Amino acid sequence: MMISVVIPFHNEKKNLPILIKKLTHVLKKINLKWEILLVDDGSTDQYQLSDIETLNEKIKLIKHIKRLGKGEALKTGIENSKGELISFIDADLQDDPEDLPKFLEKIHQGYDFVNGVRINRKEGLLIKIYSKIAYLFLKIFFHSPYKDINCGFKVFRRKILDDFIFYGNNFRFFPLYAFYQGYKVTEVPVNNHKRKFGRSKFGSGKLIGGIFDMITAFFLYKFSEKPLYFFGGIGMIFSLGGFLVLVYLAYERLIHNLLLYRRPLLFLGMLFMIVGVQITMTGIIGELILYLNKKLEDKNKFSYESRSSFDHHQHHLGWRSTNI
Ligand code: UDP
Ligand code: MG
Repeated sequence: MMISVVIPFHNEKKNLPILIKKLTHVLKKINLKWEILLVDDGSTDQYQLSDIETLNEKIKLIKHIKRLGKGEALKTGIENSKGELISFIDADLQDDPEDLPKFLEKIHQGYDFVNGVRINRKEGLLIKIYSKIAYLFLKIFFHSPYKDINCGFKVFRRKILDDFIFYGNNFRFFPLYAFYQGYKVTEVPVNNHKRKFGRSKFGSGKLIGGIFDMITAFFLYKFSEKPLYFFGGIGMIFSLGGFLVLVYLAYERLIHNLLLYRRPLLFLGMLFMIVGVQITMTGIIGELILYLNKKLEDKNKFSYESRSSFDHHQHHLGWRSTNI
């Protein structure tokens, strides 16, 4: 088995040489073939190649000509990797390569995805509070099994990538994806160090962004196959609320003969009904899009098959299929 360690970096001149030294030291001790893929995400700190010590067939450097973000850097790394196992590790030395064997132990136990949990985290109070809230939120609403979903250090089997496409910031919910897809996931405690050199690349925007990313994750992987369950549920709640309000008003009007003008409740009831129906309809449109897509997929498959059997037939008759 081979492990590919993907290291995305943007302006980490001072950290890289130390990290590589530590990492190769650890990799030489474990009983696997290995490679390190350094993905330079448009660094502008003019680092010298000699800073990164030895580049050879085991330690490769791939460059983005401009900064595309961590998600794209991870993707580039994966596309150029060969291992059946893949590990992500941040270049900022906050993670400790010495923890790698703990991950591998879990893989040997049969897990498909192993995420780090940063114990003794060296982050500001704000980030800590945010992480705590995010943890509870993810656990309660998204059934997340992770204590520290945002830890950059992970090891997983390549097969998990079969239908996960890295783009933008979606690397943040990759762990949730693995879990939703039914892979065996687990966590191991990892040491966390303070950033010594360079600055964090994600500002406070990460706090808001993180929430959006999680909502996308939840929606895409829980409901992209059945949108009506998602929209229909929300729509029903609105419609039902509106309906009850209107029933109440109708009762008052018919039985107690109370007139309906100047009753704000009437507008609320109507609003809820309309909003509810619209949300439900969004779900139906979602189902329609999904259905049409599937149909198109099947059709393509079918025409491909018939085309190739047609080719086969032509070939049999001694015709050149390229002319068709
Ligand atoms: N990174 C990157 N491209 C970016 C932002 C970050 O390659 O646009 C790398 C960065 O160099 C580091 C890792 O992603 O190796 C994690 O970034 P950082 O430590 O700044 O994030 P934090 O730990 O503060 O969330
Ligand atoms: Mg960091």
